Amino acid sequence: MRLILTPHAPRTEGAQRFLKTGPKRLFIDGEWLDTAETFPSHDPATGAELAQIARATQADADEAVAAAQAALTRPDWAGMLPAARGALLWKVADLIEAHADELAELESLDQGKTFATARFGEMNGAIAQFRYYAGFATKLHGQTIAPSIGYAPPGKQVMAYTRREPIGVVAAITPWNSPLLMAAMKLAPALCAGCTIVLKPAEETSLTAIRLVELMAEAGLPAGVVNLLTGYGHEVGAALSAHPGVAKVAFTGSTEVGRLLLDAARGNLKKLTLELGGKSPALVLDDADLSLAVPGVARGIFANSGQVCVAGSRVYAQRKIHDQLAEGLAKQAEGMRLGHGLDPESELGPLVHEAHAQRVAGFVAQARKAGAEVLAGGMTNGAFHAPTVIAGAAQDSPLLRDEIFGPVVSITPFDEIDEAIQMANDTDFGLAASVWTEGLSAAHRVSAAIRAGTVWVNCHSFFSPELPKGGLKESGWGVENGAQGLENYLETKTVCMVI
Ligand code: ADP
Repeated sequence: MRLILTPHAPRTEGAQRFLKTGPKRLFIDGEWLDTAETFPSHDPATGAELAQIARATQADADEAVAAAQAALTRPDWAGMLPAARGALLWKVADLIEAHADELAELESLDQGKTFATARFGEMNGAIAQFRYYAGFATKLHGQTIAPSIGYAPPGKQVMAYTRREPIGVVAAITPWNSPLLMAAMKLAPALCAGCTIVLKPAEETSLTAIRLVELMAEAGLPAGVVNLLTGYGHEVGAALSAHPGVAKVAFTGSTEVGRLLLDAARGNLKKLTLELGGKSPALVLDDADLSLAVPGVARGIFANSGQVCVAGSRVYAQRKIHDQLAEGLAKQAEGMRLGHGLDPESELGPLVHEAHAQRVAGFVAQARKAGAEVLAGGMTNGAFHAPTVIAGAAQDSPLLRDEIFGPVVSITPFDEIDEAIQMANDTDFGLAASVWTEGLSAAHRVSAAIRAGTVWVNCHSFFSPELPKGGLKESGWGVENGAQGLENYLETKTVCMVI
């Protein structure tokens, strides 16, 4: 493992200032509030404490939801012209852009990912989310309908129209892998729709959510429209997900917690969007351009150290190119330089914490024990886990069935394309997949045959706010992004009248 751990401090004045001031507080109804208890956030590379963060309780959840409910109908938000709402979203994007280096430094420190990943992948992604949905605020149209109702009083007519109305208070519960981007993916469409929000970031990585909410307040969002509750999932996350004042939960995280949210939604029949786990296959056909496929498949699994819901963690390689691909992936893995996320030389940072690195290592140990061959990597050091390529693991082994959420990929040969499709679909998940081929027919046929919310051809993990993103099977409910993603935050009201 090429690990050179030289701790680096943030260079932007904004990140330095943010880390100096603390403890970090909750944001409810436009006010920053202290809590009785706090919890620490750490730099996973060094274990150093970065900040103390407010630990929200059930009472804080009650207060935040009440603030969001009140803001929903207050004229400064409900009466805001759609164009003004769009302009506000655009302003949030501008502020993220102006502070992108600072936010990327905080993300890198808190989560472990490299600065480049945070800055160019995720901050740019968050900016794009706000700009995309800023444009939609003026385009939320209903329909006029001429209903075939024959029992209107004589001489009268029936006409009807639909209104698109905000669904209400949204609890946005976000994960630790791409914290600010995941928050933006929920906040931007929810605000576009006119909803109000309680944001609950993952306890491991709350820093950029706090900074984002500061910037949103600076942009001029009315009080109560966005509220921030930092704290633990089983405490404040659970309180929000069962809260009768919350109309909708927008969640990204584990399938396990997704199931808990389903149970919690029973009380008031909350609407849910669940973006859950994945075990995404990458199918590399004999005619693939390996100069694209080798680095592309490697990026598909190793980016953000595999802590990506769509990570291409199962590679199926057609027999003729199998060995060349395996060798190429192993070489890519071995060539990657691991180090502190803020070290400009680092290509991969640590995992989110040491316990997670140990969990990932457990899968590798299990595969080794079962006779699989580790072609590259396989080592850990603190929270760092080497990018790892494993051949010869069985299709029904945990390595190929469970979501590992680390930089570990299996490679399995196949002869016929149908066999690869069958193995690709042999999973409880259905989040994403990639197909690598120069053949037009194969590209379309395989894409159609794979049960996944997104299929990439000759690329992996390509995202943009225009592209709907959702999971089939146990990978989730509903779709985020695109015009369809907005539907999650809108309700249709039909107004039917006799005139
Ligand atoms: P991961 O496996 O990526 O840590 P989780 O599903 O555990 O993902 O966490 C994703 C988000 O869900 C985090 O913000 C976490 O605090 C929150 N969470 C965890 N447990 C619960 C729960 N019981 N109810 C509501 N939210 C929860």
